[in-house]
Amino acid sequence: MFDSIKKIFAGNEGEMPVNLSSKPDISREKSADLYAKAKSFFPGGVNSPVRAFKSVYGTPLFIQKGDGCHIWDADDNQFIDFCCSWGPLILGHNNTKVREKVTEVMQNGMSFGAPTALENELAELILKNNKYIEKLRFVSSGTEAVMSAIRLARGYTKRDKILKFEGCYHGHVDALLVKAGSGLVTFGETSSAGVPKAFADETIVISLNDKNALTKAFEEFKDQIAAIIIEPIPANNGLLLQEKEYLEFLREICTKNGTLLIFDEVISGFRVGFEGAAGYYQIKPDIITYGKIIGGGMPVGCYGSSKEIMANVSPEGPVYQAGTLSGNPVAMAAGIAQLSELLRMGFYRDLNGKTEEFTASIQRFASARNYKFKVFSIGSIFWFAFTDSEAIRSAEEIDASSMEKFKVMHRELLNRGIYLGPSGYEVGFISSAHTKVELEKAKRAIFESLDLVFRK
Ligand SMILES: *Cc1c(COP(=O)(O)O)cnc(C)c1O
Repeated sequence: MFDSIKKIFAGNEGEMPVNLSSKPDISREKSADLYAKAKSFFPGGVNSPVRAFKSVYGTPLFIQKGDGCHIWDADDNQFIDFCCSWGPLILGHNNTKVREKVTEVMQNGMSFGAPTALENELAELILKNNKYIEKLRFVSSGTEAVMSAIRLARGYTKRDKILKFEGCYHGHVDALLVKAGSGLVTFGETSSAGVPKAFADETIVISLNDKNALTKAFEEFKDQIAAIIIEPIPANNGLLLQEKEYLEFLREICTKNGTLLIFDEVISGFRVGFEGAAGYYQIKPDIITYGKIIGGGMPVGCYGSSKEIMANVSPEGPVYQAGTLSGNPVAMAAGIAQLSELLRMGFYRDLNGKTEEFTASIQRFASARNYKFKVFSIGSIFWFAFTDSEAIRSAEEIDASSMEKFKVMHRELLNRGIYLGPSGYEVGFISSAHTKVELEKAKRAIFESLDLVFRK
């Protein structure tokens, strides 16, 4: 059995223990019917594994619409949504500006396979406001961005090995579906069937926040490592906030060894600030990947770097990379509309301030009652962790058994109209559409749920 990449196969789907809480379980009749049907169409009934409720109670909810910070499921249950499509919807659901721009552009046709002015417009918007990249290439997903960035790093350095960190997720790229073996510095073992061992053999996997392992890896594989790839704000396996000094160490060791540093900012890009984690920590990586927010809810990804490195990408250079629907005009339109809003004065100050208030108040509640519970957060990302630790910086520090508590909390929150991603390893997102009033409501539901989780 494979240890799942995103730890989603752990649960026992459908099984619901007796509800001892004061709130009845929400109706899931229509969702359950849709799910039964979906199972006959798709493996596991879904088109992306994390959507299945494998790590929480009940069947997955089928969503029929979203507006602002709310979503409604097929049974007409209304929720305040903290999943936000796993991050892209920083303006909330069905944002007027995004919808209007998309509708306008769609009137002229949806794809041409030829350049459009909209690609220039989105690229200019990004490059003018981001000093960490000079040129970019649009693709259609985060996975594609990462895959291309790695090929570029290998092509540019003429080296094959990639170093990644346990607990960082980079999409379903073959070479990165690997997990650490048992040693300090190991080649990865594949974490998905279908990935050739030969691919995993090119990937070195080490723990986050471990300078010794990093130094050792560079000693052992001197002049062989094309790139280090990291989520500078690891947010796919809990929120494993790194110290700035550690990220600076990565920068130094890469520079010293002629290795490229890739920041995978598919989540953190445009999230913790317009310039993402690079801007937040003021560290210049060699290549950055973006996804999620960049497309305003449409499928867009991108990778960017210096003019010099990007000159290696085809048709300018020898690194081949292409896409029939890359730079799709409708998707560009959504990105333009969304990113324009982010550039408004005070956007991030307001959003991050709101998040800070929300998370601090939940932490105060939990601490006052001595609950073994921490809210980790940065920008408008937060993670509920059932722990006493002041900081969790590596995947190994997460207590897997604490996920049982998340499971209970998830059910109680759904029953109180709050939607979190269906796994305790996933982070939550706050959008500019989450009003103070709705956040207050959510807090009350979270307090009640915590009391139930920790009731003696
Ligand atoms: C979501 C994510 C990806 C993959 O993006 P997709 O659009 O799902 O292919 C890659 N890296 C990070 C850091 C992500 O969060």
